[in-house]
Amino acid sequence: MSDALLEVQNLKLYYPVKVRQNVLRSETRYVKAVDDISFTVNKGETFGLVGESGCGKSTTGKTIVKLLRPTAGDILFEGKSIFARQEEGQDLTTRIQIIFQDPYSSLDPRFTVGRCIAEPMVVHKTGTPQQREERVRQLMKDVGLRPEHYTKYPHEFSGGQRQRIGVARALALNPSLIVCDEPVSALDVSIQAQILNLMQDLQKKYDLTYIFISHNLSVVKHLCDRIAVMYLGNMVEIASKNDLFDRPAHPYTQALLDAIPIPDPDIPTMQEMLEGDVPSPMDPPAGCCFHTRCKKACPRCAQERPRLREIAPGHLVACHF
Ligand code: SF4
Repeated sequence: MSDALLEVQNLKLYYPVKVRQNVLRSETRYVKAVDDISFTVNKGETFGLVGESGCGKSTTGKTIVKLLRPTAGDILFEGKSIFARQEEGQDLTTRIQIIFQDPYSSLDPRFTVGRCIAEPMVVHKTGTPQQREERVRQLMKDVGLRPEHYTKYPHEFSGGQRQRIGVARALALNPSLIVCDEPVSALDVSIQAQILNLMQDLQKKYDLTYIFISHNLSVVKHLCDRIAVMYLGNMVEIASKNDLFDRPAHPYTQALLDAIPIPDPDIPTMQEMLEGDVPSPMDPPAGCCFHTRCKKACPRCAQERPRLREIAPGHLVACHF
């Protein structure tokens, strides 16, 4: 039996953009934010999604929680499409929740903490008001908030405390899968470890599966079981944490790992920095999406798009070599 909880199949998400040709004419072009990616997330694991800003990782996360509608492809949760019409009481969206990057803008400033955390239950008409309050108070305890915080407002809290509220809200509907969209990148370094430890504790307590989106490879290495690397809307490598950090196979992954700073000035760096800019997702290069910056590129790379292929058990890479 498969352990797959979520299967992303050939997902594409293109944003239409009107480009003016002259005063009389404009044409519609498309920003290819996500361009035909597939991957599987297993039950109970933490699956990392990494890449530079604009690579499509957050767009992928938002599509998984149905905040965005895909241009093509499908997403299966426990074998059923999340976009298919569901029977009464079978709403899969309650089983998949999200923790947003910015704990300041993701909380309604007019709501008390109790109301913020209860909001998903109110929207989905879950439980009586008394049951909701009991659930909220339990979740507040789980995430390290005090009972007197129930009637306070988000502006009365620090960034770390606000993210605890965001975590509690994500747990309100008792989900199986949580998309964590850079949940600690807006926080002070000293607070980041507290939130990451809290998330690990909650994963054990509530038997959760995480998709952890980040551009911080150290955090991903600490937290994730398997990691997928994205570049320009494409999936370029998927591997277990150890395989990816010990034996990176794609030149882009190697460049990302080389860019991790070494916190010791006496250790000489062997780093090869990436040169050039990321091409526009509105006009991505033909062939391999990385060929304009790849030191190993050859003529074939500019013509033929490499598909993900398995080079070792569970280690997939999209490169011709
Ligand atoms: Fe580099 Fe070619 Fe591999 Fe793309 S296919 S990563 S351009 S070597």
